[in-house]
Amino acid sequence: MSEQERNEVNYSNVRKDRVVTNSTGNPINEPFVTQRIGEHGPLLMQDYNLIDSLAHFNRENIPQRNPHAHGSGAFGYFEVTDDISDICGSAMFSEIGKRTKCLTRFSTVGGDKGSADTVRDPRGFATKFYTEEGNLDWVYNNTPVFFIRDPSKFPHFIHTQKRNPQTNLRDADMFWDFLTTPENQVAIHQVMILFSDRGTPANYRSMHGYSGHTYKWSNKKGDWHYVQVHIKTDQGIKNLTIEQATEIAGTNPDYCQQDLFEAIQNGNYPSWTVYIQTMTELDAKKLPFSVFDLTKVWPQKQFPLRRVGKLVLNENPLNFFAQVEQAAFAPSTTVPYQEASADPVLQARLFSYADAHRYRLGPNFHQIPVNCPYASKFFNPAIRDGPMNVNGNFGSEPTYLANDKSYNYIQQNRPIQQHQEIWNGPAVPYHWATSPGDVDFIQARNLYRVLGKQPGQQKNLAHNIGIHVEGACPEIQQRVYDMFARVDRGLSEAIKSVAESKHASELSSNSKF
Ligand code: NDP
Repeated sequence: MSEQERNEVNYSNVRKDRVVTNSTGNPINEPFVTQRIGEHGPLLMQDYNLIDSLAHFNRENIPQRNPHAHGSGAFGYFEVTDDISDICGSAMFSEIGKRTKCLTRFSTVGGDKGSADTVRDPRGFATKFYTEEGNLDWVYNNTPVFFIRDPSKFPHFIHTQKRNPQTNLRDADMFWDFLTTPENQVAIHQVMILFSDRGTPANYRSMHGYSGHTYKWSNKKGDWHYVQVHIKTDQGIKNLTIEQATEIAGTNPDYCQQDLFEAIQNGNYPSWTVYIQTMTELDAKKLPFSVFDLTKVWPQKQFPLRRVGKLVLNENPLNFFAQVEQAAFAPSTTVPYQEASADPVLQARLFSYADAHRYRLGPNFHQIPVNCPYASKFFNPAIRDGPMNVNGNFGSEPTYLANDKSYNYIQQNRPIQQHQEIWNGPAVPYHWATSPGDVDFIQARNLYRVLGKQPGQQKNLAHNIGIHVEGACPEIQQRVYDMFARVDRGLSEAIKSVAESKHASELSSNSKF
């Protein structure tokens, strides 16, 4: 959507002559007077302008996201640089040079709206593409894996990242109690990334984004592949040390918001190169882990990155609330030829994200301009009515579809994916939260080796964990040392020595997250 188009949508209701009115459009003579009896008597109920303004003020806030409440966003475009028509038939990839408008929102996860930008936390990296086949949301993070692989754990895990119900404080005991419980140590890989320096990115422009999940993309012939997406920063990775992140959280909590806004305002547009990894169903069956396991990456030597295009952010929102706070991203918002895989966390997100927006913004959230599929248009007169219906509600169109002969609608005839996975088995509870043996520690050890090739990174990992774990009780601290000893004994000892240092006790009260 061009800036002009967006302004027209956003300001279509605004008087051009700028005469101040109340919300019903009645001009107000003087906005700063209240009607009262005499000069100092009580106020009058008939002063609708005052009531209008106070009542609306009370309703300015909408429920914040839970999680990912705190974030920043900007508009831009995706440009195709390489042909991937053998992998994906989506229109946005149809020709080299093609551009698709988009909106990206970056966020922290655990913090409340208004919390500091530089806390240690994964970062959300969500992009809405306005394609001619409908909107597409890539709701990604800046880490390639996640803490859990069974969605039943999600509310429990997120609660441990938030506040203690009694003290209303972030709580190192809650945090490490959950993560060191043997059934939850599948998180070790993500915990290692979180506590590496990439857990405190210097700004949103200097970090990568990853699908994390496996998706299923197909070409126009119906052949399909498992796909993972990598969005790699062209600015280069830049991180903060724990000391820098802690200081900035106090001196400029909106550091990353300011950095993104000012970079774009100054014409220094951030960009990312988008790659995919692809895998056949046969390859997936040979993996030593499940292709649907969100705690694992695909080794790049075996599944090399293949370049697709460029993501560029070049336009600041004109209004943060309208265009970023009200933006609704959901993995279920997808286009032909890009489908979800059977990854259970992704399957659960297909429900829960759109559901969160129905709660937060109402069931007609897709009618809010920033969420409208403006490049494709929406036609389904059975999806109608509901609170805050503002798009004309399909006028006199029938309220139902019967068949394409009785009413004038067109049914798209797209070939479905061929050779689909075949699922077969009893409907039983499946215990996948944990796995026997050591399999969940293998990639965490690989990462520790990757960190070993970069000066100071293994040391910083121990330093960052040690400072955080200093705030936990001794019994939980011991569980932390034992868990990291399964990655590397030297790492465990280094964490312990930092946790017992004076520096840790000085810093940990300020830098828990
Ligand atoms: P490779 O050596 O082929 O790849 C290493 C990967 O690690 C690169 O993607 C690199 O991305 C990334 N990396 C480098 N430094 C760090 C860091 N400090 N924190 C996080 N990631 C970093 O090996 P593998 O593919 O076998 O992966 C080895 C380990 O690397 C994995 O266990 C995983 O923890 C991590 N990793 C792997 C990814 C993958 O898709 N395979 C993606 C991201 C991380 P960059 O270009 O950003 O430096």
